[in-house]
Amino acid sequence: ITILGIESSCDDTSASVLRDGVIHSNIIATQTVHMAYGGVVPELASRAHQQNIIPVVDQALKEANVTADEIDAVAFTRGPGLLGSLMVGTSFAKGFALSKNIPLIEVNHLKAHILAHFIDDLKNTYDHPGFPFLALLVSGGNSQIIIVKDHMEMEVIGETIDDAAGEAFDKCAKVMGIPYPGGPVIDKRAKEGNPLAFEFSRPKIQGLNYSFSGLKTSFLYFIRDKVKVNPNFIEENMNDLCASLQYTIVDVLMNKVKRAVRETGIKEVAIAGGVSANSGLQNAMKETASKQGWKVYIPQLGYSLDNAAMVAITGYFKYLNKDFVEQDTAPFARMTIK
Ligand code: ATP
Ligand code: FE
Repeated sequence: ITILGIESSCDDTSASVLRDGVIHSNIIATQTVHMAYGGVVPELASRAHQQNIIPVVDQALKEANVTADEIDAVAFTRGPGLLGSLMVGTSFAKGFALSKNIPLIEVNHLKAHILAHFIDDLKNTYDHPGFPFLALLVSGGNSQIIIVKDHMEMEVIGETIDDAAGEAFDKCAKVMGIPYPGGPVIDKRAKEGNPLAFEFSRPKIQGLNYSFSGLKTSFLYFIRDKVKVNPNFIEENMNDLCASLQYTIVDVLMNKVKRAVRETGIKEVAIAGGVSANSGLQNAMKETASKQGWKVYIPQLGYSLDNAAMVAITGYFKYLNKDFVEQDTAPFARMTIK
């Protein structure tokens, strides 16, 4: 079975060809127009998707060495995301399915982030999580703890009541003058800094939920006060600021995951979403796993951030269930895990 996956929920246009669970191509065109604005500008994103979608699909087919006629089904991200962005991928997928007379499969972007753990590489070396497992989904728009019961059935047991972890990284980065998206830059600078140099206030939220808006505000005030005294404060302390901020965010994330493991008794834990690329989070996961006897799953390189391979693998599972949609399907910007 050969599936074409299409992802266009935010600011990356991506297409991927998957054959029997194995990825043969995963092309990602990342939009750079947003860097100057400190966040994604929806109108600019949908325009860039329109420009990118056909060349990206062409390249994905070419790299996989398949023709459009060899595709058995097309899977696309229906939501959540920016409506105008989703519209481009959805329309393309509908047109492609119609012209080739093949099934159309809608994919939930959040589930796809998690199901990226089931992608096989050509050598089949990646160990997949076993059901049920816990997923920490941390991205630009979401921070959730999820019980994954099977490929399609997932239950959210904790989530952020305000900002997502990725948003906390990006907004604090913006305060330091780092262009969007700041998460990867903080990760890099943190490696050279002292994680205990500064202390920031931590959320006091009951249960398994998260909150990151207080941290963002306390970071903003902290910087503002320091800069009043020393205008070069940020520049002089950038590495320590990044290390301390990352240490705090990772610690907050880990504390609730530990609690979720205690409460559910599930000791298989997978991280997913853009922030799962963070080296501090990956290290904390591995360390805790060896201390507590968990089994952890870190996404393979390239499958943390938005990509169409995760859409294709989700589409593959739905294909096996004959879970198809009709041509009247429309994007669903506020789609959730449920
Ligand atoms: P969602 O998946 O919730 O719809 P999204 O698709 O916009 O949101 P992703 O692409 O999954 O989000 O993740 C993007 C986020 O990941 C950004 O906030 C970015 O800063 C963050 N991110 C990426 N790499 C790293 C890293 N190494 N360290 C920290 N954050 C990172
Ligand atoms: Fe995403």
